[in-house]
Amino acid sequence: MSENQGVKGLVLVVEDERAISDLLRMYLTREGFGVHVATTGPDGLSYARTLHPAAIILDVGLPGMDGTEVCRQLRNDGDWTPVLFCTARDEEVDRILGLELGADDYITKPFSPREVVARVKSVVRRAQHAASAPGPVVIGKVELDPVTRRVEANGSPISLTATEFDLLAHLMDNPGRVFSRDQLLSEVWGYAAVVGTRTVDVHVAQVRAKLGDFDVIRTVRGVGYSAEEPQ
Ligand code: CA
Repeated sequence: MSENQGVKGLVLVVEDERAISDLLRMYLTREGFGVHVATTGPDGLSYARTLHPAAIILDVGLPGMDGTEVCRQLRNDGDWTPVLFCTARDEEVDRILGLELGADDYITKPFSPREVVARVKSVVRRAQHAASAPGPVVIGKVELDPVTRRVEANGSPISLTATEFDLLAHLMDNPGRVFSRDQLLSEVWGYAAVVGTRTVDVHVAQVRAKLGDFDVIRTVRGVGYSAEEPQ
């Protein structure tokens, strides 16, 4: 019980279906999270800016403003609060990932509230863990600071989403060590591999694209990925 005492952080739920937001509120509250519900895109954006939640559960189809637009505007503000997208259609997942909005995760409806709670815990834990981590790590021309969550490639700042950062940090913390996709899912994403290993590949590709010429991630064919000094 003691684990559930005290508020673990505020979760902003942006969802226009009352039945879903009620269910999420119930499960999240039971786990010790504070919950604030917004029912439109503009309200969601405004509460995200004023309440500074620990995580946001963001429906895609919302009145007033699409969930992806809410996220885009937050990212434009430099706000990288973890976002867990909720989508009614599986085919929207590729579109969301393709927008590079820093969606930390996504879940398709109908979902199990227990699973949503597990994912919220996971993104919040990762954000808190990173805040207590030690000094910068350098591999090749890439420098990563787990405290400020800044990454520089050849001296220029690189803007990574929360998940991209955690993925790169995990690889760079263990230089040369090869991680399988399943290992990365469990150690970086922090829950059983429900989303599938494609998620890992998509995020690795996004990190690589952002590091460009200074990429330090190596693909180990048939195995997975590692971070090492470029040859
Ligand atoms: Ca909706």
